[in-house]
Amino acid sequence: MSTTAELPRIRVLPDATIDRIAAGEVIERPAAALRELVENALDAGARRIAAAIAGGGVAAIEVADDGGGMSAAELALAVRRHATSKLPDDDLVRIATLGFRGEALASIGAAARLAITSRRPGAEAATVTVAGGVVSEVRPAAGAPGTRVLVEDLFFATPARRKFLKSTRSEGDAAQLAVRRLALAAPGVAFRFSNDDETLFDRPAEPLAQRVAALLAPEATIAFDEQRDGLRVHGLAAPPAVTRATVAGQLLAVNGRPVADPVLRTAVRVAYRDVIAAGRHAVVALFLEIDPEAVDVNVHPAKAEVRFRDAEAVRGLVIGALRRALAGGARPVGRPAPLGSRSFVPYPSVVRAPWPPVVEVSRGGFAEARLSFAAPPAVRGIEAAEPAAEHPLGAAVAQVLDTYIVAVAPDGGLVLVDQHAAHERLTHESLAEQFRTGAVASQPLLLPAVVDLPEGQAASLAERAAEFARLGLEIEPFGHGAVLVRALPALLGPADPAPLLRDLADEIAAWGEGLVLEARLDAAIARLACHGSIRAGRRLAGPEMDALLRRMEATPRAATCSHGRPTFLKFTRSDLERMFGRQ
Ligand code: ADP
Ligand code: MG
Repeated sequence: MSTTAELPRIRVLPDATIDRIAAGEVIERPAAALRELVENALDAGARRIAAAIAGGGVAAIEVADDGGGMSAAELALAVRRHATSKLPDDDLVRIATLGFRGEALASIGAAARLAITSRRPGAEAATVTVAGGVVSEVRPAAGAPGTRVLVEDLFFATPARRKFLKSTRSEGDAAQLAVRRLALAAPGVAFRFSNDDETLFDRPAEPLAQRVAALLAPEATIAFDEQRDGLRVHGLAAPPAVTRATVAGQLLAVNGRPVADPVLRTAVRVAYRDVIAAGRHAVVALFLEIDPEAVDVNVHPAKAEVRFRDAEAVRGLVIGALRRALAGGARPVGRPAPLGSRSFVPYPSVVRAPWPPVVEVSRGGFAEARLSFAAPPAVRGIEAAEPAAEHPLGAAVAQVLDTYIVAVAPDGGLVLVDQHAAHERLTHESLAEQFRTGAVASQPLLLPAVVDLPEGQAASLAERAAEFARLGLEIEPFGHGAVLVRALPALLGPADPAPLLRDLADEIAAWGEGLVLEARLDAAIARLACHGSIRAGRRLAGPEMDALLRRMEATPRAATCSHGRPTFLKFTRSDLERMFGRQ
């Protein structure tokens, strides 16, 4: 038996170490610390909250509020672990505040240098500091009613955590996003946020619609508000014609708490499923009000997720409310519902057309054929050229729903092409090729375009101007919340710069720091290609359709679009025979 076996190997950790371990969970990055501080200000009933960061939030975070404040005795308790004023009867079942664990200030104090000055109405101000877990005396101080919290050198006491931080810019972006989400969930509170002395937004107390227009999306104008069985869902949605590349255009909140909840996220996706393209995301600000007893907010270290007692009821209400709002509010423009889908938006489709249709094909080249239906025509036939053997995708014979090209292959088979997906892939490949060979053609705009973006996003776009310039996209910062576009990649043709830049901004927000430059540029190319492409819903002439088919044949990787969906489907003679049971 070795002597070391007698030494106790298990020991109870010192408090300072316990605090640091806990700190790692509660505040994994500056944005999390900032969110906790702003939540505290909201819980304290603040009417105005000013938040500022420096150096991505690692160097400094400051949050000042005009809420109820703390007395000197409360200040001393506030920085201790598991000290909270928010569970008056230790009831974890009815949580009506954003905070409840009493861990945030203690965690921040364990990992950083923390200074809090607070004043209750009618009392003197007091101040306390904590550095790496060491708490000072509470001293009298001077200060306005409310609370001011300053955090410096975040993670100086937990260097392991510091190693995992991303660049100053992405930490700053994440911090800004955290405040923006809380500001969207509390439009009645005035919010200001600045990063390295630049004010990124400054909003007065205002109606929800104004807050959403300023900080989320001006297009979210369709209001909804429904209740059932003690649940209420309300908010603002954008029409299906407005979509984003990521879920960055969605704010989901449960009892005023912004969440990334899968139940709500899925419900939004289902509500929009039949009216927006696969892979795109709806834009919506959605607020669920629910009895605190029917939802558990204590299931996630960062309180980002919740658990509903009756998820089905929540789902049903959200899907129903959104669908009714969309059906009544705005119809999708220029984009027919997919053939055969269970669309809730009535839209003429070939299926409902009288049968047989009266077809008059005009003679002479590719002149447009006229098919007359009682409903608006969804199929346009053209007189096809004889499909040549060297063209496997064949000759175009018709366009369906202004979206799909129907072609006849040389072997007699049937080819269906999604014109947008196909063109997007071609644009993507050409742009990538131009980029590889260093020959990106840029087309200056006759008049530079000013594009407004949610405040703050403009800055992160402008910071990458040099990267985008390599792709032929020339932009410059243009005051707060705007970017000036001087040139677009020539390949895109006359694309509208506004939706393009909004998509790029979302794309950037989705980039992890791990993504190398090449991958980022490729993702940007994919976004750009999408905007330079023939939209679904555009009528094409015969030669345009054939030209598209020929380019597809000449392009590697043309069988799937940039999002991985197929660009064409081919049914050979034997496929057709099998489908009809002839084989
Ligand atoms: P929690 O918010 O979960 O209670 P915190 O560590 O974030 O835990 O805060 C501890 C306590 O300090 C809170 O319960 C609250 O009483 C007080 N406090 C924190 N920030 C503020 C503030 N900005 N204004 C007033 N009181 C505050
Ligand atoms: Mg808190």
